[in-house]
Amino acid sequence: MSRVFQLAQAVKLSLILGMTTGTLLLGSHLKVDAESRTTAHRQLQNTKVKLAQNSPAISRFQTLAEADELYQKGQLQAAENLYRKVKPDFATSDRRRTAIYEVEQLPGDGQVYWRNANEGLQQNLDSKIFLPLQLLLSNYPEFIKGHLLLAEACDKKPEACKSNAKDGQPKNALEVLERAVELYPDDPELLKAKIKALAKEQRFLEASIAARQFATIYVDYPEAPEFEKLAEKNLQRHHSKLNDDLRFQGIFSTVVGGVKAFSTKDWQSGVSGFETISMLLQGESAFGKEVADKLVKQYQQEGKLLEDPQVLNYVRGIGGRLEPLMGRKFDYEYYVIQDSAINAFALPGGKVFVNVGAILGTNSEAELAGLLSHEISHAVLSHGFQRVAQSQFISGLSNVIPISNMFQEMVGKEYSRENERQADILGTRVLNKAGYAADGLRNLMATLNAKSGGKEQTSWQSTHPAPAERVAYLEGLIKSNNYNRYAFEGVKKHQEIQNLIQGIAPSQDSKPAASQPAKKPPKGKPNSITKPIRGIVAIAAGLTRDNIEIRIDGGKVESDRNFTINFIVENRSDRAFAFVPLYAEVVTESGKKLKTRFSSAQAQVPAGGSIKGEVQVLGQSWNSQGSQNLTLVIKESTGGGRIFRIPF
Ligand SMILES: [Zn+2]
Repeated sequence: MSRVFQLAQAVKLSLILGMTTGTLLLGSHLKVDAESRTTAHRQLQNTKVKLAQNSPAISRFQTLAEADELYQKGQLQAAENLYRKVKPDFATSDRRRTAIYEVEQLPGDGQVYWRNANEGLQQNLDSKIFLPLQLLLSNYPEFIKGHLLLAEACDKKPEACKSNAKDGQPKNALEVLERAVELYPDDPELLKAKIKALAKEQRFLEASIAARQFATIYVDYPEAPEFEKLAEKNLQRHHSKLNDDLRFQGIFSTVVGGVKAFSTKDWQSGVSGFETISMLLQGESAFGKEVADKLVKQYQQEGKLLEDPQVLNYVRGIGGRLEPLMGRKFDYEYYVIQDSAINAFALPGGKVFVNVGAILGTNSEAELAGLLSHEISHAVLSHGFQRVAQSQFISGLSNVIPISNMFQEMVGKEYSRENERQADILGTRVLNKAGYAADGLRNLMATLNAKSGGKEQTSWQSTHPAPAERVAYLEGLIKSNNYNRYAFEGVKKHQEIQNLIQGIAPSQDSKPAASQPAKKPPKGKPNSITKPIRGIVAIAAGLTRDNIEIRIDGGKVESDRNFTINFIVENRSDRAFAFVPLYAEVVTESGKKLKTRFSSAQAQVPAGGSIKGEVQVLGQSWNSQGSQNLTLVIKESTGGGRIFRIPF
C-alpha cells in the first residue's frame, strides 16, 4: 500500500456534504473529524433561528460583505472604515529590533565585547573570541557584523567553534549564518556570507536557491540583480557537479533513458536514485509536472478530484491574481481534492492542490488566498524541490523508492523555520500586492490556532506549526511594511462556494442562502394533520448490480421537515468501488432534486468491503404511510461510472 493511500486512510476521507441555511456557514462549522462535524451541524441547526437573529458572527459577516462591495466599487476609504469596525488593531507586536551595522551604534558593553573578540582573533586566543561574541549576539542580535564575525571565527577554528557552543547554539559557520538570516532575512551581507558558506561545502543547488529566494522576495532591493547572477552561477555549478558525478559512474549517456523510465511509471511504482537524478537534471518544472501528473491520475482513480466548474474557477481565479506577482513563471495548474482535512500544497513548477476542507475551513477569500500564496511561495522558492535534491533518494543510485515517498518528502513534512518564514514573507507580500486584505495568512493561522485550541490539529497545522510567535511575526511584517489590512476580504462569494460544496443549491424561490438571514419560522401551530411521527423508523430498499449492493436500512425522523436515512454500500466485486458524495442525491418522482446533507466515513469501498453512510433529507416531510416516493441516486466515480437508483 502506498504511503499516500495510507495517508488518505489516516485522515479518513470524510467528506460531509450537506445543506443548511447560510447562517450556519460562517466558518463556525469547522471541525476536523466527520463525526463531530455532523454533531455540530445538528446542534447548530437546532439553534439556527437564534443565530440568525442576533449572532455577532452574522453582523460581522454583513459588515464585511458591505465593505467588500464598497472596496470593489473603488470607495476605498468608506470600505476601510467598515473593515476597521470588525477588524481590531493587532494586540501583539513583533519585538524584533531593527538591524544595526556600525560599532558606534552599540551600547558601551556591546562595544567592549566587540573589541575583545577582534583582539582575540588577532592574538589567536579562542577564549577571547567565542565568549565575547556569544555575549554580544545574545544581547545585541541586531548587530549584523557580530554574526559575520562569529561565522568567520567558526570558519577559521571549527573545533573551537563547536566546543564553545552551548546547547541550542550554532556549532559551525553555516549554522551561525542560518540563524542570522532567519532573524534578518532581508540583509544582503548575511545572505552573501551564507551563500559562500554553502558553496564552500559544494551545496551549489542550495546556494543557488538561497540567492534566487532573495531576488524573488526582495525584488525591489538594489542587490536583487546581483543575487540573480549568483543564483545562475551556482545553478550551473550544481549541474556540472551532477553531470560529473554521473559521468564518473559511467552512466551519463543513459540519463535520457532514465527520464523515460520515470515518466511511464505510476504512483505506486518505485524509482531509482538514478532515475531521480535524471529527472532533477531536467529541471524543477519538468520534475514537478511528472510527479503532479501521477498524483492527479491517482486522485482520479480514487474518485477524489472535484470537477465542479464553479469551485474550480473560484480557486483558479484566486490563483490567477497571485501568479503574476509571485516572481517566477510556471505553468500553474489548480486541482481541488475531495478531502475534508484543511490542507493545501503546491508541487515544484506550480501545480497547486487544494482540499475542499481548506475552502470550508477558511473564513474568507483573503484567508484562502493567504493559504494559497503561502503554498505557492514554497514552490516558487524551491523548498520541496530542494528537499528531494538533498534527500536519500539520490544518495544511492540503485535505491528504489516509491514516487509517493518522494511526494511525501516534498510536501508531507515540516519545512525548516527559515523556509516557513520565507513563505510567510513572500506570501504576505503577494497577498498585499494582489489587493487582498494583507492579514489573510495571519488570520488563517490565528483562526486555526483558536479552533484547534492547541489540541486537535488540522493536517496543514501538522506541517505548519503556528505558535503565537509566528502570528506576531506576521503582524510585525504587515505593520513595518505598511501593508493594507483593510483591502478585499471576499466573504460573500466565499460563502456561496462553501454552500455549493456542501450541496446547497439555491432553490428557485430563494436567493443564495449565504447572502440573506434565515427566514423566520412560520407563525402559528404546525399543521397537525401532516405532522409525522418522530424517532427511529423502519425502512428498507436496495439495488444490486455487478456485485455492488447499495441498500437503505432504517432511518430517523427528526422534525416535521427533516429526516435521515441510513445507507450501506457493499462491494462483493474484486475491484474497489468509489462514488462522489457531491453527486449523490435524493430526487422526487418528477425529478426535482431535494436538499440533502450527505455523509459517509469514506467514499471509497475496497474490494470485499463495505461502508455505512447517512443522507439527511431536508425540507421534506416523512410520509408515515407507505413509500416516500423518492429515489436515492448514487453515482460511481470509478471505472464504469454506473448509476444506482434506489426508490424508497
Ligand atoms: Zn509552509
